Amino acid sequence: MGIKETDQKYIAGTYNRFPVEITHGKGSLVYDENGKEYIDMGSGIGVTAFGIADDIWQQAVIDQIGKVQHMSNLYYTEPCALLAEKLCEKSGMKKVFFCNSGAEANECAIKAARKYSAEKKGGDCFTIVTLINSFHGRTLTTLAATGQEQFHKLFTPLTPGFAYVAAGDVDGLKQIIADTKVAGIMIECVQGEGGVVPLTEEFVKAVDAIAKENDIPLIVDEVQTGNGRTGKFYSYMHFGIQPDIVSTAKGLAGGLPIGATLLGEKVENIFAAGDNGSTFGGNPVSCAAALSVVSRIDDALLDEVAEKSVYIFSELENAKGVESVTGKGLMIGIKTVRPAADVLKDCMAEGVLCLTAKDKIRLLPALNIPMDVLKKAVAVIKEQAGKEA
Ligand SMILES: *Cc1c(COP(=O)(O)O)cnc(C)c1O
Repeated sequence: MGIKETDQKYIAGTYNRFPVEITHGKGSLVYDENGKEYIDMGSGIGVTAFGIADDIWQQAVIDQIGKVQHMSNLYYTEPCALLAEKLCEKSGMKKVFFCNSGAEANECAIKAARKYSAEKKGGDCFTIVTLINSFHGRTLTTLAATGQEQFHKLFTPLTPGFAYVAAGDVDGLKQIIADTKVAGIMIECVQGEGGVVPLTEEFVKAVDAIAKENDIPLIVDEVQTGNGRTGKFYSYMHFGIQPDIVSTAKGLAGGLPIGATLLGEKVENIFAAGDNGSTFGGNPVSCAAALSVVSRIDDALLDEVAEKSVYIFSELENAKGVESVTGKGLMIGIKTVRPAADVLKDCMAEGVLCLTAKDKIRLLPALNIPMDVLKKAVAVIKEQAGKEA
């Protein structure tokens, strides 16, 4: 049996894989089992922030693996403390809880909001408001937080205590707060899985103001948008707001599992010993990798992300076969006239790996993708989008 057959026989059927085995890569180039080269415009769904097997990232990981690869949270370790310090410096948040994934970071965010509100407003104040078309993860609680019906069916009953409002519906949000005791409001500033749909500045600011007026913790899910992806360190920074709770994961450790929940002033001391925990949370190798990644996300890199974004928009907006381009920074959705799945398949044949989000092509390239490589990939996408259906 080849790898594909073995995988199909033994791996649970949760993923539809493309008929390609990726064996290795370097930077924004990856290679399949036949040695075919691809430009990686997905970076493992926004994870390999500095590309595949990046030298600086690799050295940080190797150095830490040679010292201590894991230690329980009963003891102090350096990478975890230094990473928390760096994240707080970059974000204005006060404390960090480390875990292993985006869903787990959101679980912690929800626990923090619920504990704050229960202590302040009583145990019946537990409802978390999220947005219709949001995505917050696959655990039963973060599925409940995910405002897309299609993910819910077959897995009910989900965790109770969630209410949904459409992005942009300020009155709807006010109505829920008037009718229900609300413990938290959770948003993505750019809805990633929902089709790379940015929220308007007006709505984000209104949500922030409503949360403040009502003493409701505002949670921003930066799992996909975080760590430089949108051209700011966190996407909420485009709007001049300071959330009470931020969750992040995907690109944070550049390709090793990590999740982080950042607690702002309002909730910085909400957790006491025993309130949350994670065996692998704060793992020294993941944290050393993340420390290296975060240290490299400086103003120069963020400017580069913004410049590359402008380039992609300018090439693809109004291009033949393209209906719209949305997103921020290097998180981009392209609505094509041809079905996105067809465009993606043809791009793959031409050596460019893209993602989809709903009915769009989605691009999440490495933040440091070289300009000449990006240009090649965009030319292929443009050509394939422009083909007759
Ligand atoms: C990917 C994603 C998650 C879930 O992250 P996992 O690491 O897969 O658990 C949560 N929220 C958003 C916005 C995401 O994009």
